[in-house]
Amino acid sequence: MQYRTDKAGNALSILGYGCMRFTKKGAEIDLDKAEQELMYAIRHGVNYLDTAYVYPGNEEAVGKILAKNNCRGEVYLATKLPHYLIRSASGAQKKFTEELHRLQTDYIDYYLMHMLNDVKTWERLVDQGIGDWIAQKRASGEIRHIGFSYHGNSENFKALLDVYDWDFCQIQYNYLDEHTQAGREGLLYAAEKGIPVIIMEPLRGGRLVNDLPQEAKRLIADAGYTPAGLALAWLWAQPEVTCVLSGMNSLDMVKENIRIAQNAGMQELSPKQEDLIRQVRQEIARSVKVGCTGCGYCMPCPNRVDIPMAFHAYNAKYTEGKKSGRKEYLQSTAMRRETTSASQCIGCGRCEKYCPQGIPIREKLKEAVRELETPSYKIVKWAVQKFHFY
Ligand code: SF4
Ligand code: SF4
Repeated sequence: MQYRTDKAGNALSILGYGCMRFTKKGAEIDLDKAEQELMYAIRHGVNYLDTAYVYPGNEEAVGKILAKNNCRGEVYLATKLPHYLIRSASGAQKKFTEELHRLQTDYIDYYLMHMLNDVKTWERLVDQGIGDWIAQKRASGEIRHIGFSYHGNSENFKALLDVYDWDFCQIQYNYLDEHTQAGREGLLYAAEKGIPVIIMEPLRGGRLVNDLPQEAKRLIADAGYTPAGLALAWLWAQPEVTCVLSGMNSLDMVKENIRIAQNAGMQELSPKQEDLIRQVRQEIARSVKVGCTGCGYCMPCPNRVDIPMAFHAYNAKYTEGKKSGRKEYLQSTAMRRETTSASQCIGCGRCEKYCPQGIPIREKLKEAVRELETPSYKIVKWAVQKFHFY
């Protein structure tokens, strides 16, 4: 295994274990299978494990496996505060105590504000006393490092990085998200500030492996890669990436990812490799609804529509499935104080003047609204605003 050092000098394995995808047996996690996979990874050098309060049964499963194998001290444990479920510092304390109990530990190495998507939400948390609560937990050693996980655009991400002295952060990033979500722009900004970046969704939930167009698969195989190998190589070639989480749920997947991590080159991609990524992206773009490259030239929209994100989610609905596209759209546009939904478009046309792809943005946004803003989307958006979940 190879390691990269974070702000505090901890050597984190470049491959981290995203525990949220443990296999289920009925409604329960298959603990024996999860143990076999997780312990194989730990025994082969993976030392960063990621879970969260809201992943059903997940913290308990991780806690049981680590306790049974007596290896809590061998790993860095990351979990998350569901800040949208709390209203006060005492509420945070209650959830945190529960998490320690589930994980069978008395400290968390890397603690994240889960899906912290804008500065206004952070300011609400500070008003509730969460900033002081975090300071106390850090002083007592119960929280070793504080960070946040993020789904949103690069502008809001950079603003969040500026508003507090974070130890680390976690973003969705892969070769399709280079210019959406926090994107490369956000990654570089974090690196400039010396903030380590943990990567989630490096394979877009496995879709850069399983759902690639045939021609993209052929290009990758001809170049001597596996789809996962190419996606991970693209990430590890960027020195600003600290640790890449993979939601592994089969022993074969664990073994393959460890093999790739052991052999990963850490230098920049060669022009030939860059060209391969470009061709694979083109093949994926051919199979989508809107040929948006995510360049962001159309932004900002005066009415706060996140145009590249709306098209990204709209495309994902077709390439990755209805559920995936709608989930991404909901997380990225509605679960925040200042919403960025496509339906906020007032049709001014300003954005279309700047689009190098000549996309009829207004028309395509209307399509996206029809397909992504379902009755349940509207209910969640309304509830988030009404009850100030964010
Ligand atoms: S046309 Fe719609 S999306 Fe484009 S800038 Fe105007 S309000 Fe924003
Ligand atoms: S300018 Fe065009 S291609 Fe670029 S993000 Fe906006 S819609 Fe997409």
